[in-house]
Amino acid sequence: MTWEPVIGLEIHAQLKTRTKMFCRCPVGFGAGENTQTCPVCLGFPGALPVMNRRAIEWTIKLGLALGCEIAEHAVFARKNYFYPDLPKGYQISQYDLPSCIDGKVLLPAADGDRLIGIVRAHLEEDAAKTVHVGGRSGRIGGADASLVDYNRGGTPLVEIVTAPDIRTADEAKRFLQLLRQTIVELGISDAEMEKGTLRVDANVSVRPSGSDELRTRTEIKNMNSFNFIARGIDAEVARQIRVCESGEEVRQQTYDFDAATGTLTARRTKEEADDYRYFPEPDLVPVQPPAELVESIRAELPESPASRIRRIEPALDLDRATVLVTGGLDRLWDETVTAGADRVASANVIANNLVGAGVDASAVDAGELAKLVEARDRIPRAAFDEAVGKLAEPGFAADPYLAQEAVSDIDELGPIVDRIIEENPGQVLAYRGGKEGLLGFFVGQVMKETQGAANPRVVSEIVRQKLST
Ligand SMILES: [Zn+2]
Repeated sequence: MTWEPVIGLEIHAQLKTRTKMFCRCPVGFGAGENTQTCPVCLGFPGALPVMNRRAIEWTIKLGLALGCEIAEHAVFARKNYFYPDLPKGYQISQYDLPSCIDGKVLLPAADGDRLIGIVRAHLEEDAAKTVHVGGRSGRIGGADASLVDYNRGGTPLVEIVTAPDIRTADEAKRFLQLLRQTIVELGISDAEMEKGTLRVDANVSVRPSGSDELRTRTEIKNMNSFNFIARGIDAEVARQIRVCESGEEVRQQTYDFDAATGTLTARRTKEEADDYRYFPEPDLVPVQPPAELVESIRAELPESPASRIRRIEPALDLDRATVLVTGGLDRLWDETVTAGADRVASANVIANNLVGAGVDASAVDAGELAKLVEARDRIPRAAFDEAVGKLAEPGFAADPYLAQEAVSDIDELGPIVDRIIEENPGQVLAYRGGKEGLLGFFVGQVMKETQGAANPRVVSEIVRQKLST
């Protein structure tokens, strides 16, 4: 029997509002522990919450970008549970009446576009940050002490819940990259996984291929990069298939994925909604955004990343278009092409060389970049790399680099190629036996030998000729 994974995602994005969700404490990293707190976010008796208008507008903005309906009447509730990072003993969160429902996100894919359903996007406050000291890998088990920093407590957090519409780990990864870029471009969150401003949990189950049943699912937490998420999902899918094929049943369970060892560790049994004793927050009025407000926010929405991928795909291919758009690089690409550079070469230079050199794409002059792209085979590789590294510097000019010429002289390069061939008999044999990919190895050796001064295209021709005789 073959099995089909059924994957849903829960994404938390921390909003970068100036102040917290229900008080006027500043939101931000880097301040000393427990310095950004007040009676409201520390849960002192009698302190009253006041809604952050901007957080509500941004949630509506996100909901619209995800194709959601915006509720005319949303309600904050108390989600009751005890934990040291939750000083009130409850979290204020939208529950059965969230601000955004029933959305759809288009995910461009090689075999046709996919629509991923958005069940809801709701607003809540973040918990404080607990740090376990002295234990293994920061977990509570085996720790000597646990410390709580309440600075994060009360920060506005949007939770996005997808329908179980995702079918592969790779699709989950591509969806998340697209969603992250959408959030960043709306200007509502930095959405950085390594800083915890974007957090993702995956709900995973498997079913016989072709069936439409939804089986018991498990939840994977604690994954802090898109690649780890994909690997965590793959590991859990493989585990569930083993369980099912051995005739047993998958049990509802939460797992932590350890990326270093590729293993899943079971956590606590998941609480049911009943355990939280949700009830409407009596200190807050319902959220009832006027229709004009919603429409004015809708009118401000930028073109979505998905639509840009589809727009530029015909000029490139899906993969290149996706890398450019989800990297926030497509505008620079567009301007570079308009300035006269080749489409595919520009995409490659931007996605590989520029990103590899850590250059800030928003500070690059597309006209200068276009000159470099066009000259890339003519000038020495070393000069090209140096120029790319300096592209974002104020007043950067490509001309001095364009004046340099790569060594294309066959009389000069021929003997070097001969020597490299002589020194690598094994690779020569393999190449002649059909491993043509080794051409790059020989070119690379010559480039190294000439310290990047040779013209790689000419070197490639010489190597090819010499090895075919
Ligand atoms: Zn506060």
